[in-house]
Amino acid sequence: IKDMADDEAIQATNDDASECKRYAVQLGYWCDPFISLFVKQTARKAPEINRGYYARVKGIELFVENFLKLSGGKGQIINLGAGFDTLYWRLRETGNSPANFVELDFPSITAKKCYHIKKHKQLIDMLNTEDGEIRFSTTDLHAANYHLVGTDLRHIAELNNKLAQAEVNFNSPTMFLAECVLVYVDASATSSLLKWLAGKFPNSLFVSYEQVNMKDKFGQVMLSNLRSRGCLLAGVEDCESLETQQRRFTINNWEGTSAWTMVDVYDSLPVMDRSRIEHIEMLDERELLTQLLQHYCIAVAWNGQTFKNLSIAQG
Ligand code: SAM
Repeated sequence: IKDMADDEAIQATNDDASECKRYAVQLGYWCDPFISLFVKQTARKAPEINRGYYARVKGIELFVENFLKLSGGKGQIINLGAGFDTLYWRLRETGNSPANFVELDFPSITAKKCYHIKKHKQLIDMLNTEDGEIRFSTTDLHAANYHLVGTDLRHIAELNNKLAQAEVNFNSPTMFLAECVLVYVDASATSSLLKWLAGKFPNSLFVSYEQVNMKDKFGQVMLSNLRSRGCLLAGVEDCESLETQQRRFTINNWEGTSAWTMVDVYDSLPVMDRSRIEHIEMLDERELLTQLLQHYCIAVAWNGQTFKNLSIAQG
């Protein structure tokens, strides 16, 4: 029962993420015409939170763009714990879609996402349907190059089945995205997942956004950080430092890794863009933003040569 309560609390973190994104979009931090179709209303968020989300979304977009460039139209994106993420539709809008796009989350979340997609013609119409067919169940949706499937990332055999149903090709260039997800999965399940993916996808890139620098000056994981919104951060031990974030990949057979705190990611964003968003809202204490950004990171890992040494340097 305790585990189920934790799973429910974990699923609720999707509401948080989607609401924060919707609020920042509403203020004009970045453009996303689709998020409001998944989230109706949001309460006000502090300026540093909005800027943090801006860096998170732009930092991930940077790797998505590089992945699409390097995979030459043959790439597939697999979003682990996708929640209500709108990346598929944002890419469709720019005419820059991958060959296949797969979203995975708990069935309770994918059922809600299916419901919102069915409800909005705008979302349905953008699903690429070569033969006009979209297959729906309560929790899963399959179109020509978009698949939304309900599964628990801690269960590898089920994941394997679901990826097959989503027409994933294990040899195609593949990008995995895990945005604020692995921290909710216990370390041994994350290890099994990462090891399995490394063995199955020889030409791949993993992009993970999550907490970092979670220990205090005495080397203890800060107790207040062990739970967030009532749920256990089961994977928090891997969030100790950039090194532990990277080690998680190397010990699970990924060939190479890099990691940056969000301070570095924020500073690497184009000056013009930063200056624009810094004028949206006043932030009296810049230090608040720096403290927030120091506690999040983007860690990437790769297998094969194609995505070796990808970095946040804009080029
Ligand atoms: N990635 C989305 C984003 O950034 O907008 C959602 C982030 S939300 C903080 C975390 C998501 O991970 C939730 O939707 C949750 O249901 C999902 N998740 C966590 N553990 C999972 C598991 N074991 N299997 C499937 N999904 C999981």
